[in-house]
Amino acid sequence: MVGSAIHRKLEADGFNKLVVRTSDELDLRNQQAVADFFAEEKPEYVFLAAAKVGGILANNTLCADFLYENLAIQTNVIHQAYVHGSKKLLFLGSSCIYPKLAPQPIKEEYLLTGLLESTNEPYAIAKIAGIKLCEAYHDQYGCNFISVMPTNLYGYNDNYHPELSHVLPALIRRIHEAKLSNEPSVTVWGSGNPKREFLFADDLADACMFLIENYNSPELVNIGTGKDLSIRDLAYLIKSIVGYEGELVFDPSKPDGTPRKLMDVSKIHNLGWHHTTPLQDGIKMAYEDFLKHRVVQ
Ligand code: GDP
Repeated sequence: MVGSAIHRKLEADGFNKLVVRTSDELDLRNQQAVADFFAEEKPEYVFLAAAKVGGILANNTLCADFLYENLAIQTNVIHQAYVHGSKKLLFLGSSCIYPKLAPQPIKEEYLLTGLLESTNEPYAIAKIAGIKLCEAYHDQYGCNFISVMPTNLYGYNDNYHPELSHVLPALIRRIHEAKLSNEPSVTVWGSGNPKREFLFADDLADACMFLIENYNSPELVNIGTGKDLSIRDLAYLIKSIVGYEGELVFDPSKPDGTPRKLMDVSKIHNLGWHHTTPLQDGIKMAYEDFLKHRVVQ
């Protein structure tokens, strides 16, 4: 989702020497394959969007895969960008790197000031290692490697897996399917009380372009909207966009995860970037994309 959004943005901005690989063409977990790729292509600017990602259940159950695959992908790419003298690298982290009970909104400097949320600790530990790797290559070798922390993302080409996806695509799919089969109710995991912030992936791509052109420090930058809502309100918003008339039922036996995860986005605002897609419009676009690509009726 993020890689294709950045690709669209680069094409729209007129860049025509793009070097892209699908995961079938290049396995970024494979050290030799990544070394060969960099030796052949010598990319000048690197957007490291590739990662093993998933929602609260995926993080909980596939913990070894999340830790190993993310460490491998980022270590291989960051090291080869250094070896082959890439001019700049942008590493995508995540808001889950911050402590579970961080003061809200979360400032960049709260990194490593408290315990992580246990449901996504493997992913967060890998991403923190990636941030530190970028910092270390900057400090030791002078590499211009920057790290950005997007909030929860959604958009075109999202993962709609019923169990392993994030909340927003999961609810689009579940509520849509309930509408089609006239089910009287839909289950929403957890209490509905946790609050989350959501950013449209094309807005993230826009922010990444802005930062690669204007930001040259290894210090983190949060990327978000600065606004959050409860999972309950999100579920009702998706219900109205999908046009489902049944009930929403909350299942407290499922994990809530961290209670709140609102980014402080004053740094990127002060640099001159703001998001442009309102949540309601973004969900409508994501739902249209889901209908176009995902549903076999
Ligand atoms: P998180 O931001 O890392 O916690 O990731 P998620 O997007 O997976 O979950 C966000 C919140 O949405 C949690 O409180 C979940 O319990 C809640 N949620 C409600 N329904 C669902 C669902 O169907 N799938 C997922 N992944 N989360 C859900």
